[in-house]
Amino acid sequence: MHLGILLNRVFRLEGNPLFNYIAEHLHEIEKLYLILPIEDLSDAASVKREHYHKMVESFVSNLSKSNISPYIVNYDKLGELSADLNLSHILVGRDIMSYHSDIYDYPHIKAAFQKQGIDVIGQRVNHYFLPTKTLNQQQKPYKVFTSFYKANRKNIISKPTKNYQLKQLSLYAEKGTNQSHFNVNMNNNIERQARKAWQSFLNNDISYYQQWNDDVALDFVSGISQYLAYGVLDIQEILNDLLDVYDQDEANCESFIRELMFREFYYVLMVYYPETAKVSFSEKYRRMQWSNNQTHFDAWKQGQTGYPIVDAAMQKLNRTGLMHNRLRMVVSQFLTKHLFIDWTWGESYFRKYLLDYDSASNVHGWQWSASTGTDAVPYFRMFNPIRQSERFDSKGYFIKYQLEIFENVEEKYVHNPTKYRNELLEKYQVEVGKDYPKTIVDHKASREYVMHQFKQF
Ligand SMILES: Cc1cc2nc3c(=O)[nH]c(=O)nc-3n(C[C@H](O)[C@H](O)[C@H](O)COP(=O)(O)OP(=O)(O)OC[C@H]3O[C@@H](n4cnc5c(N)ncnc54)[C@H](O)[C@@H]3O)c2cc1C
Repeated sequence: MHLGILLNRVFRLEGNPLFNYIAEHLHEIEKLYLILPIEDLSDAASVKREHYHKMVESFVSNLSKSNISPYIVNYDKLGELSADLNLSHILVGRDIMSYHSDIYDYPHIKAAFQKQGIDVIGQRVNHYFLPTKTLNQQQKPYKVFTSFYKANRKNIISKPTKNYQLKQLSLYAEKGTNQSHFNVNMNNNIERQARKAWQSFLNNDISYYQQWNDDVALDFVSGISQYLAYGVLDIQEILNDLLDVYDQDEANCESFIRELMFREFYYVLMVYYPETAKVSFSEKYRRMQWSNNQTHFDAWKQGQTGYPIVDAAMQKLNRTGLMHNRLRMVVSQFLTKHLFIDWTWGESYFRKYLLDYDSASNVHGWQWSASTGTDAVPYFRMFNPIRQSERFDSKGYFIKYQLEIFENVEEKYVHNPTKYRNELLEKYQVEVGKDYPKTIVDHKASREYVMHQFKQF
Protein backbone atom coordinates (compact mmCIF):
# COMPACT_ATOMS: atom_id res chain seq x y z
CA MET A 1 0.00 0.00 0.00
CA HIS A 2 0.93 3.66 -0.45
CA LEU A 3 0.35 4.82 3.08
CA GLY A 4 0.03 8.37 4.32
CA ILE A 5 0.15 9.08 8.07
CA LEU A 6 -1.50 12.23 9.42
CA LEU A 7 0.61 13.54 12.27
CA ASN A 8 -1.28 16.62 13.40
CA ARG A 9 -1.97 16.80 17.16
CA VAL A 10 -0.01 13.63 17.84
CA PHE A 11 3.14 15.64 18.47
CA ARG A 12 5.21 13.02 20.26
CA LEU A 13 8.04 10.73 19.31
CA GLU A 14 7.50 8.37 22.23
CA GLY A 15 4.38 6.28 22.76
CA ASN A 16 2.98 7.31 19.40
CA PRO A 17 0.54 4.68 18.09
CA LEU A 18 0.97 6.01 14.53
CA PHE A 19 4.66 5.11 14.53
CA ASN A 20 3.85 1.81 16.15
CA TYR A 21 1.38 1.07 13.36
CA ILE A 22 4.14 1.61 10.78
CA ALA A 23 6.49 -0.71 12.66
CA GLU A 24 3.86 -3.43 12.76
CA HIS A 25 2.87 -3.13 9.09
CA LEU A 26 6.20 -2.55 7.40
CA HIS A 27 5.83 -5.64 5.25
CA GLU A 28 2.61 -4.26 3.67
CA ILE A 29 3.95 -0.78 2.94
CA GLU A 30 5.41 0.01 -0.46
CA LYS A 31 5.57 3.78 -0.02
CA LEU A 32 5.33 5.69 3.24
CA TYR A 33 4.56 9.38 3.58
CA LEU A 34 4.48 11.20 6.91
CA ILE A 35 2.22 14.20 6.50
CA LEU A 36 1.84 17.07 8.92
CA PRO A 37 -1.27 19.06 8.02
CA ILE A 38 -1.38 22.55 9.51
CA GLU A 39 -4.59 24.02 10.93
CA ASP A 40 -5.82 27.44 9.97
CA LEU A 41 -5.85 29.43 13.21
CA SER A 42 -6.34 32.82 11.61
CA ASP A 43 -9.43 33.47 13.73
CA ALA A 44 -7.73 32.37 16.96
CA ALA A 45 -6.16 34.74 19.48
CA SER A 46 -2.49 35.33 18.76
CA VAL A 47 -1.51 33.70 22.05
CA LYS A 48 -3.06 30.43 20.88
CA ARG A 49 -1.77 30.72 17.31
CA GLU A 50 1.79 31.29 18.46
CA HIS A 51 1.55 28.41 20.90
CA TYR A 52 0.38 26.04 18.17
CA HIS A 53 3.28 27.07 15.97
CA LYS A 54 5.73 26.44 18.79
CA MET A 55 4.27 22.97 19.25
CA VAL A 56 4.62 22.22 15.54
CA GLU A 57 8.16 23.56 15.39
CA SER A 58 9.28 21.52 18.36
CA PHE A 59 7.79 18.37 16.86
CA VAL A 60 9.31 18.96 13.43
CA SER A 61 12.62 19.67 15.06
CA ASN A 62 12.45 16.46 17.13
CA LEU A 63 11.56 14.45 14.02
CA SER A 64 14.51 15.88 12.16
CA LYS A 65 16.83 14.49 14.86
CA SER A 66 15.64 11.03 13.77
CA ASN A 67 16.17 12.00 10.14
CA ILE A 68 12.45 12.34 9.41
CA SER A 69 11.15 15.26 7.34
CA PRO A 70 7.38 15.15 7.08
CA TYR A 71 5.40 16.68 4.24
CA ILE A 72 4.07 19.93 5.72
CA VAL A 73 0.91 21.18 4.11
CA ASN A 74 -2.10 23.29 5.01
CA TYR A 75 -5.27 21.28 5.55
CA ASP A 76 -6.92 22.82 2.52
CA LYS A 77 -4.17 21.38 0.30
CA LEU A 78 -4.26 17.92 1.84
CA GLY A 79 -6.53 16.48 -0.85
CA GLU A 80 -4.23 17.71 -3.61
CA LEU A 81 -1.13 16.34 -1.91
CA SER A 82 -2.76 12.95 -1.32
CA ALA A 83 -3.66 12.75 -5.01
CA ASP A 84 -0.12 13.75 -6.07
CA LEU A 85 1.35 11.10 -3.80
CA ASN A 86 -1.13 8.56 -5.12
CA LEU A 87 -2.08 7.37 -1.64
CA SER A 88 -4.05 4.16 -1.38
CA HIS A 89 -4.46 4.35 2.43
CA ILE A 90 -4.30 7.02 5.08
CA LEU A 91 -3.80 6.47 8.82
CA VAL A 92 -5.64 9.02 10.95
CA GLY A 93 -6.04 9.61 14.70
CA ARG A 94 -9.73 9.08 15.22
CA ASP A 95 -10.06 10.41 18.77
CA ILE A 96 -8.64 13.92 18.57
CA MET A 97 -11.02 16.49 20.06
CA SER A 98 -8.66 19.43 20.31
CA TYR A 99 -8.61 20.71 16.74
CA HIS A 100 -9.22 24.40 16.39
CA SER A 101 -12.02 23.68 13.96
CA ASP A 102 -14.26 20.64 13.57
CA ILE A 103 -13.49 20.41 9.83
CA TYR A 104 -10.22 18.71 10.82
CA ASP A 105 -11.83 16.04 12.97
CA TYR A 106 -12.13 12.36 12.15
CA PRO A 107 -15.64 12.29 10.62
CA HIS A 108 -14.83 15.21 8.30
CA ILE A 109 -11.39 13.95 7.29
CA LYS A 110 -12.68 10.42 6.80
CA ALA A 111 -15.46 11.59 4.50
CA ALA A 112 -13.06 13.73 2.46
CA PHE A 113 -10.57 10.90 1.90
CA GLN A 114 -13.25 8.37 1.12
CA LYS A 115 -14.55 10.73 -1.52
CA GLN A 116 -11.10 10.59 -3.09
CA GLY A 117 -11.15 6.79 -3.05
CA ILE A 118 -8.50 6.54 -0.31
CA ASP A 119 -9.00 3.93 2.42
CA VAL A 120 -9.03 5.44 5.89
CA ILE A 121 -7.55 3.59 8.85
CA GLY A 122 -8.62 5.07 12.20
CA GLN A 123 -6.27 4.73 15.13
CA ARG A 124 -6.54 5.52 18.86
CA VAL A 125 -4.05 8.24 19.63
CA ASN A 126 -5.11 10.68 22.34
CA HIS A 127 -7.83 9.01 24.43
CA TYR A 128 -7.85 5.88 26.51
CA PHE A 129 -11.22 4.29 25.84
CA LEU A 130 -12.77 3.01 22.69
CA PRO A 131 -16.26 4.56 22.98
CA THR A 132 -18.07 1.34 21.98
CA LYS A 133 -16.45 -0.45 24.93
CA THR A 134 -17.80 2.00 27.51
CA LEU A 135 -21.54 1.56 26.97
CA ASN A 136 -24.19 0.56 29.49
CA GLN A 137 -26.28 -2.63 29.35
CA GLN A 138 -28.63 -1.09 26.80
CA GLN A 139 -25.59 -0.39 24.61
CA LYS A 140 -26.05 3.35 25.17
CA PRO A 141 -23.51 5.86 26.47
CA TYR A 142 -23.67 6.64 30.17
CA LYS A 143 -25.13 10.06 30.70
CA VAL A 144 -24.18 10.39 34.35
CA PHE A 145 -20.49 10.67 35.15
CA THR A 146 -20.55 8.59 38.35
CA SER A 147 -22.11 5.64 36.51
CA PHE A 148 -19.57 5.95 33.68
CA TYR A 149 -16.78 6.07 36.22
CA LYS A 150 -18.02 3.10 38.25
CA ALA A 151 -18.56 0.95 35.20
CA ASN A 152 -15.33 1.75 33.40
CA ARG A 153 -12.77 2.47 36.09
CA LYS A 154 -11.82 -1.21 36.38
CA ASN A 155 -10.83 -1.23 32.70
CA ILE A 156 -8.00 1.20 33.30
CA ILE A 157 -4.96 -1.01 33.42
CA SER A 158 -1.26 -0.69 32.82
CA LYS A 159 -0.23 -1.55 29.27
CA PRO A 160 3.25 -1.99 27.82
CA THR A 161 4.63 1.06 26.04
CA LYS A 162 5.08 1.01 22.28
CA ASN A 163 8.30 -0.36 20.96
CA TYR A 164 9.66 1.02 17.71
CA GLN A 165 12.88 2.56 16.48
CA LEU A 166 12.24 5.90 14.81
CA LYS A 167 15.61 5.92 13.07
CA GLN A 168 14.73 2.59 11.51
CA LEU A 169 11.30 3.83 10.40
CA SER A 170 12.91 6.88 8.86
CA LEU A 171 14.55 4.61 6.29
CA TYR A 172 11.11 3.80 4.89
CA ALA A 173 9.60 7.30 4.91
CA GLU A 174 9.87 9.52 1.85
CA LYS A 175 11.48 12.90 2.50
CA GLY A 176 8.92 15.66 2.62
CA THR A 177 9.02 19.18 1.35
CA ASN A 178 7.96 22.60 2.50
CA GLN A 179 9.78 22.81 5.84
CA SER A 180 10.79 26.36 5.06
CA HIS A 181 8.51 28.42 7.28
CA PHE A 182 9.31 26.35 10.37
CA ASN A 183 12.36 26.94 12.43
CA VAL A 184 13.46 23.32 12.79
CA ASN A 185 16.69 24.11 14.58
CA MET A 186 15.19 25.44 17.72
CA ASN A 187 16.32 23.97 21.00
CA ASN A 188 12.86 24.13 22.51
CA ASN A 189 12.02 20.47 23.03
CA ILE A 190 8.42 20.62 24.22
CA GLU A 191 8.02 16.85 24.45
CA ARG A 192 10.95 16.70 26.89
CA GLN A 193 9.60 19.68 28.87
CA ALA A 194 6.17 18.05 29.09
CA ARG A 195 7.58 14.79 30.43
CA LYS A 196 9.66 16.67 32.96
CA ALA A 197 6.68 18.73 34.12
CA TRP A 198 4.52 15.62 34.41
CA GLN A 199 7.17 13.69 36.37
CA SER A 200 7.67 16.63 38.68
CA PHE A 201 3.93 16.79 39.38
CA LEU A 202 3.80 13.04 39.96
CA ASN A 203 6.76 13.10 42.34
CA ASN A 204 5.70 16.17 44.30
CA ASP A 205 2.48 18.09 43.86
CA ILE A 206 0.11 15.17 43.37
CA SER A 207 0.19 14.58 47.11
CA TYR A 208 -1.64 17.91 47.56
CA TYR A 209 -4.05 17.35 44.69
CA GLN A 210 -7.20 16.27 46.49
CA GLN A 211 -6.92 18.93 49.15
CA TRP A 212 -5.80 21.89 47.07
CA ASN A 213 -6.68 21.40 43.39
CA ASP A 214 -9.53 23.88 43.70
CA ASP A 215 -7.44 26.69 45.14
CA VAL A 216 -6.80 29.12 42.30
CA ALA A 217 -3.78 30.81 43.86
CA LEU A 218 -1.84 27.66 44.68
CA ASP A 219 -0.65 25.75 41.66
CA PHE A 220 -1.33 22.16 42.71
CA VAL A 221 -2.79 21.07 39.40
CA SER A 222 -0.82 19.21 36.76
CA GLY A 223 -1.03 21.56 33.77
CA ILE A 224 -1.04 18.54 31.44
CA SER A 225 -4.20 19.51 29.55
CA GLN A 226 -2.24 21.58 27.05
CA TYR A 227 0.07 18.64 26.34
CA LEU A 228 -2.85 16.24 25.98
CA ALA A 229 -4.50 18.66 23.56
CA TYR A 230 -1.55 18.47 21.17
CA GLY A 231 -0.82 14.81 21.80
CA VAL A 232 2.59 15.68 23.27
CA LEU A 233 1.88 13.27 26.14
CA ASP A 234 0.04 9.99 25.74
CA ILE A 235 -2.86 9.31 28.09
CA GLN A 236 -1.86 5.64 28.25
CA GLU A 237 1.57 6.55 29.60
CA ILE A 238 0.08 9.01 32.09
CA LEU A 239 -2.17 6.26 33.40
CA ASN A 240 0.68 3.72 33.46
CA ASP A 241 2.69 6.15 35.61
CA LEU A 242 -0.24 6.73 37.96
CA LEU A 243 -0.86 3.01 38.38
CA ASP A 244 2.84 2.46 39.11
CA VAL A 245 2.77 4.77 42.13
CA TYR A 246 -0.87 4.15 43.05
CA ASP A 247 -0.20 2.19 46.26
CA GLN A 248 1.96 4.98 47.66
CA ASP A 249 -0.88 7.51 47.62
CA GLU A 250 -4.17 5.93 46.70
CA ALA A 251 -6.44 8.88 47.54
CA ASN A 252 -4.62 11.44 45.42
CA CYS A 253 -3.92 9.08 42.52
CA GLU A 254 -7.56 8.05 42.40
CA SER A 255 -8.73 11.61 42.57
CA PHE A 256 -6.49 12.44 39.61
CA ILE A 257 -7.59 9.38 37.59
CA ARG A 258 -11.18 10.44 38.22
CA GLU A 259 -10.46 13.81 36.59
CA LEU A 260 -8.89 12.10 33.61
CA MET A 261 -12.04 10.03 33.36
CA PHE A 262 -14.09 13.20 33.01
CA ARG A 263 -12.11 13.87 29.86
CA GLU A 264 -12.95 10.36 28.61
CA PHE A 265 -16.61 10.71 29.61
CA TYR A 266 -17.02 13.91 27.62
CA TYR A 267 -15.14 12.42 24.68
CA VAL A 268 -17.52 9.44 24.53
CA LEU A 269 -20.55 11.73 24.77
CA MET A 270 -19.22 13.87 21.95
CA VAL A 271 -18.70 10.84 19.72
CA TYR A 272 -22.29 9.74 20.24
CA TYR A 273 -23.93 13.16 20.35
CA PRO A 274 -21.82 15.37 18.07
CA GLU A 275 -24.72 17.77 17.58
CA THR A 276 -24.34 18.88 21.22
CA ALA A 277 -21.28 20.87 20.16
CA LYS A 278 -23.77 23.47 18.95
CA VAL A 279 -27.05 22.83 20.79
CA SER A 280 -28.09 22.07 24.36
CA PHE A 281 -27.79 18.45 25.40
CA SER A 282 -31.09 18.80 27.20
CA GLU A 283 -33.62 19.19 24.41
CA LYS A 284 -36.09 21.26 26.41
CA TYR A 285 -33.55 24.03 26.89
CA ARG A 286 -32.99 24.41 23.15
CA ARG A 287 -35.87 26.87 23.21
CA MET A 288 -34.30 29.06 25.89
CA GLN A 289 -34.38 32.76 24.99
CA TRP A 290 -30.89 33.80 26.01
CA SER A 291 -29.96 37.44 26.28
CA ASN A 292 -28.08 38.95 23.32
CA ASN A 293 -26.62 41.76 25.37
CA GLN A 294 -23.41 42.58 23.47
CA THR A 295 -22.31 45.19 26.05
CA HIS A 296 -22.42 42.60 28.81
CA PHE A 297 -20.64 40.09 26.60
CA ASP A 298 -17.87 42.60 25.87
CA ALA A 299 -17.48 43.40 29.57
CA TRP A 300 -17.15 39.67 30.33
CA LYS A 301 -14.60 39.15 27.53
CA GLN A 302 -12.49 42.09 28.61
CA GLY A 303 -12.65 41.31 32.32
CA GLN A 304 -14.63 44.44 33.20
CA THR A 305 -17.61 43.03 35.08
CA GLY A 306 -16.86 44.53 38.49
CA TYR A 307 -16.46 41.04 39.98
CA PRO A 308 -12.68 40.75 40.53
CA ILE A 309 -12.52 36.95 40.42
CA VAL A 310 -14.24 36.95 37.01
CA ASP A 311 -12.19 39.86 35.73
CA ALA A 312 -8.87 38.45 36.91
CA ALA A 313 -9.62 35.09 35.30
CA MET A 314 -10.68 36.63 31.97
CA GLN A 315 -7.75 39.03 31.83
CA LYS A 316 -5.37 36.16 32.49
CA LEU A 317 -7.04 34.11 29.74
CA ASN A 318 -6.65 36.99 27.29
CA ARG A 319 -2.98 37.37 28.13
CA THR A 320 -1.91 33.74 28.43
CA GLY A 321 -4.56 31.37 27.03
CA LEU A 322 -4.67 29.63 30.42
CA MET A 323 -7.36 29.29 33.07
CA HIS A 324 -7.72 27.15 36.19
CA ASN A 325 -10.66 24.71 36.23
CA ARG A 326 -12.39 26.42 39.16
CA LEU A 327 -12.19 29.74 37.33
CA ARG A 328 -13.59 28.20 34.15
CA MET A 329 -16.58 27.17 36.25
CA VAL A 330 -16.90 30.62 37.80
CA VAL A 331 -16.66 32.64 34.58
CA SER A 332 -18.87 30.27 32.58
CA GLN A 333 -21.55 30.35 35.26
CA PHE A 334 -21.27 34.11 35.37
CA LEU A 335 -21.79 34.41 31.62
CA THR A 336 -24.65 31.94 31.37
CA LYS A 337 -26.42 32.76 34.63
CA HIS A 338 -25.68 36.30 35.77
CA LEU A 339 -25.58 37.66 32.24
CA PHE A 340 -27.89 34.96 30.90
CA ILE A 341 -25.90 34.80 27.67
CA ASP A 342 -25.97 31.73 25.43
CA TRP A 343 -23.27 29.22 26.45
CA THR A 344 -22.23 28.81 22.78
CA TRP A 345 -20.91 32.40 22.82
CA GLY A 346 -18.63 31.56 25.71
CA GLU A 347 -17.65 28.20 24.24
CA SER A 348 -16.62 29.90 21.06
CA TYR A 349 -14.61 32.58 22.91
CA PHE A 350 -12.75 29.89 24.88
CA ARG A 351 -12.00 28.06 21.63
CA LYS A 352 -10.20 31.11 20.32
CA TYR A 353 -8.06 31.55 23.43
CA LEU A 354 -7.54 28.32 25.35
CA LEU A 355 -4.18 26.69 24.68
CA ASP A 356 -5.67 23.38 25.82
CA TYR A 357 -8.90 23.76 23.86
CA ASP A 358 -10.68 20.45 23.54
CA SER A 359 -14.08 20.44 21.96
CA ALA A 360 -15.59 17.68 24.15
CA SER A 361 -14.33 19.03 27.48
CA ASN A 362 -15.07 22.61 26.55
CA VAL A 363 -18.57 22.07 25.21
CA HIS A 364 -19.56 19.85 28.12
CA GLY A 365 -17.83 22.15 30.63
CA TRP A 366 -19.94 24.99 29.29
CA GLN A 367 -23.11 22.93 29.22
CA TRP A 368 -22.43 21.86 32.81
CA SER A 369 -22.30 25.48 33.90
CA ALA A 370 -25.27 26.54 31.81
CA SER A 371 -27.31 23.63 33.31
CA THR A 372 -28.19 22.56 29.77
CA GLY A 373 -25.86 19.54 29.72
CA THR A 374 -26.21 15.99 30.86
CA ASP A 375 -25.27 15.58 34.53
CA ALA A 376 -24.99 19.37 34.69
CA VAL A 377 -25.15 21.61 37.73
CA PRO A 378 -28.83 22.14 38.66
CA TYR A 379 -29.90 25.65 37.64
CA PHE A 380 -30.87 26.57 41.20
CA ARG A 381 -27.29 25.99 42.41
CA MET A 382 -26.08 29.20 40.85
CA PHE A 383 -22.59 30.25 41.96
CA ASN A 384 -22.17 33.48 43.86
CA PRO A 385 -18.92 34.90 42.40
CA ILE A 386 -18.06 36.75 45.60
CA ARG A 387 -18.46 33.64 47.71
CA GLN A 388 -16.42 31.64 45.15
CA SER A 389 -13.71 34.26 45.37
CA GLU A 390 -13.62 34.13 49.18
CA ARG A 391 -13.47 30.33 49.17
CA PHE A 392 -11.03 29.58 46.38
CA ASP A 393 -8.81 32.66 46.49
CA SER A 394 -9.18 33.23 50.20
CA LYS A 395 -6.15 35.49 50.59
CA GLY A 396 -6.90 37.26 47.32
CA TYR A 397 -3.46 36.36 45.95
CA PHE A 398 -4.76 35.45 42.51
CA ILE A 399 -6.78 38.64 42.16
CA LYS A 400 -3.94 40.84 43.43
CA TYR A 401 -1.51 39.21 41.04
CA GLN A 402 -3.73 39.56 37.98
CA LEU A 403 -5.36 42.93 38.68
CA GLU A 404 -2.65 45.46 39.39
CA ILE A 405 -5.03 47.97 40.92
CA PHE A 406 -5.58 45.63 43.90
CA GLU A 407 -1.93 44.73 44.35
CA ASN A 408 -1.58 46.47 47.71
CA VAL A 409 -5.19 46.31 48.83
CA GLU A 410 -6.13 44.36 52.01
CA GLU A 411 -7.61 40.97 51.18
CA LYS A 412 -10.99 41.65 52.77
CA TYR A 413 -11.74 44.36 50.17
CA VAL A 414 -10.62 42.60 47.00
CA HIS A 415 -13.50 40.13 46.65
CA ASN A 416 -16.24 42.74 46.59
CA PRO A 417 -15.00 46.24 45.70
CA THR A 418 -18.48 47.63 45.02
CA LYS A 419 -19.45 46.91 48.64
CA TYR A 420 -16.24 48.43 50.00
CA ARG A 421 -16.09 51.38 47.63
CA ASN A 422 -15.83 53.94 50.47
CA GLU A 423 -12.95 52.13 52.15
CA LEU A 424 -11.17 51.66 48.81
CA LEU A 425 -11.43 55.34 48.03
CA GLU A 426 -10.42 56.47 51.48
CA LYS A 427 -7.52 54.08 52.05
CA TYR A 428 -6.21 53.42 48.55
CA GLN A 429 -7.62 56.20 46.35
CA VAL A 430 -9.28 53.58 44.16
CA GLU A 431 -12.57 54.90 42.85
CA VAL A 432 -15.04 52.14 42.01
CA GLY A 433 -16.90 53.11 38.84
CA LYS A 434 -13.84 54.98 37.54
CA ASP A 435 -10.60 53.14 38.36
CA TYR A 436 -12.33 49.77 38.54
CA PRO A 437 -15.87 48.99 37.25
CA LYS A 438 -18.94 48.79 39.44
CA THR A 439 -20.66 45.39 39.27
CA ILE A 440 -22.49 45.30 35.94
CA VAL A 441 -25.27 43.14 37.37
CA ASP A 442 -26.54 42.44 40.85
CA HIS A 443 -26.22 38.84 42.07
CA LYS A 444 -29.59 38.66 43.80
CA ALA A 445 -31.56 40.22 40.94
CA SER A 446 -29.80 37.99 38.38
CA ARG A 447 -30.53 34.94 40.44
CA GLU A 448 -34.25 35.72 40.59
CA TYR A 449 -34.35 36.29 36.84
CA VAL A 450 -32.52 33.03 36.06
CA MET A 451 -34.71 30.98 38.39
CA HIS A 452 -37.76 32.38 36.69
CA GLN A 453 -36.43 31.61 33.19
CA PHE A 454 -35.49 28.02 33.98
CA LYS A 455 -38.70 27.30 35.89
CA GLN A 456 -40.69 27.89 32.72
CA PHE A 457 -39.41 24.61 31.24
C1 LIG B 1 -16.30 25.89 30.98
C2 LIG B 1 -15.17 24.87 30.96
C3 LIG B 1 -14.41 24.73 29.83
C4 LIG B 1 -13.38 23.77 29.77
N1 LIG B 1 -12.65 23.64 28.63
C5 LIG B 1 -11.68 22.71 28.56
C6 LIG B 1 -10.91 22.56 27.37
O1 LIG B 1 -11.13 23.23 26.36
N2 LIG B 1 -9.91 21.64 27.37
C7 LIG B 1 -9.64 20.87 28.48
O2 LIG B 1 -8.71 20.05 28.42
N3 LIG B 1 -10.37 20.98 29.59
C8 LIG B 1 -11.36 21.88 29.68
N4 LIG B 1 -12.07 22.02 30.84
C9 LIG B 1 -11.79 21.10 31.96
C10 LIG B 1 -10.71 21.60 32.97
O3 LIG B 1 -10.94 22.93 33.29
C11 LIG B 1 -9.28 21.45 32.41
O4 LIG B 1 -9.09 20.15 31.93
C12 LIG B 1 -8.25 21.73 33.51
O5 LIG B 1 -8.38 23.03 34.01
C13 LIG B 1 -6.85 21.54 32.90
O6 LIG B 1 -5.84 21.89 33.82
P1 LIG B 1 -4.89 20.78 34.41
O7 LIG B 1 -4.34 19.91 33.32
O8 LIG B 1 -3.92 21.46 35.30
O9 LIG B 1 -5.93 19.92 35.26
P2 LIG B 1 -5.70 18.86 36.43
O10 LIG B 1 -6.55 19.28 37.57
O11 LIG B 1 -4.30 18.60 36.67
O12 LIG B 1 -6.43 17.56 35.83
C14 LIG B 1 -5.75 16.57 35.07
C15 LIG B 1 -6.47 16.32 33.78
O13 LIG B 1 -7.77 15.79 34.03
C16 LIG B 1 -8.66 16.23 33.00
N5 LIG B 1 -9.72 17.05 33.61
C17 LIG B 1 -9.70 17.68 34.79
N6 LIG B 1 -10.88 18.29 35.02
C18 LIG B 1 -11.65 18.05 33.94
C19 LIG B 1 -12.97 18.42 33.56
N7 LIG B 1 -13.76 19.16 34.36
N8 LIG B 1 -13.42 18.04 32.36
C20 LIG B 1 -12.67 17.29 31.54
N9 LIG B 1 -11.41 16.89 31.85
C21 LIG B 1 -10.91 17.27 33.02
C22 LIG B 1 -7.84 17.07 32.05
O14 LIG B 1 -7.38 16.26 31.01
C23 LIG B 1 -6.68 17.54 32.91
O15 LIG B 1 -5.52 17.84 32.19
C24 LIG B 1 -13.12 22.96 30.91
C25 LIG B 1 -13.89 23.13 32.07
C26 LIG B 1 -14.90 24.07 32.09
C27 LIG B 1 -15.71 24.24 33.35
